[in-house]
Amino acid sequence: MTQPMPDGSLADQDEGALDVARFTSEKRRARRAAIRARHRLASALVVLAIVATATGCLPETVSRVPTTDPVVFFTIDDGIVRDPAVLDFLRTNNIPVTLFVNPGQVAQDPGYFQSFRDLGDSIQDHTVNHPSLNRLSVGDQQAEICGPIGDYAGRFGQTPWMLRPPYGNYDLGTRVAAQACGIRYLVLWRVVADQGRITTWGGPIEAGDIIIFHFDSQLLSNLTLAWYVTALRGLHPARLEDYLPSS
Ligand SMILES: [Zn+2]
Repeated sequence: MTQPMPDGSLADQDEGALDVARFTSEKRRARRAAIRARHRLASALVVLAIVATATGCLPETVSRVPTTDPVVFFTIDDGIVRDPAVLDFLRTNNIPVTLFVNPGQVAQDPGYFQSFRDLGDSIQDHTVNHPSLNRLSVGDQQAEICGPIGDYAGRFGQTPWMLRPPYGNYDLGTRVAAQACGIRYLVLWRVVADQGRITTWGGPIEAGDIIIFHFDSQLLSNLTLAWYVTALRGLHPARLEDYLPSS
């Protein structure tokens, strides 16, 4: 910047002072930027450390149990329709099942679900309100997942350690939240028995397959069908708890 000054010297001095001020302020800015960068790096490292620690013991996600035993696993969800004939069928044929139910359904008919416990079956976690967990914050997911734990532990004398995420929807936050609730496994499925049909993904039913049913009006016929179909393949229902233990 040049000012038309009579002798020019004063203009040089001003320019020099301006340069020093600019240089000093540049240095301050650079120093502040370096401090901010160091803080950002430190924060990132803290987050990474937390994630690394957490991922070390996050619940496993299981859609098929890796086993060569001739077994499959029957799992029944929700609890809306409660047919006593289903209990009779399971009792008569000595078929174990694992339940993933919502506490609202359990509260409507606790005796029905206690009968499954009396047969030796376990009652596991399916959240409080049956949401798509991957649409919720980690905190809200934790409230949904932890909600039934104390209730079921008190009612059934067994603390749940498996979670079936509703609709099979989950994200990393689900696993972090589930871990905080004491969950060891996110249990999905590869086979669906619904409306008188067996649907599989990636080939026929195999040893270790987890089959999903629902407490609906066709549960008895779906269970019967799946039992026959698996028997034809030389497989029989086993207790999922024996293959995915609580500890
Ligand atoms: Zn469900």
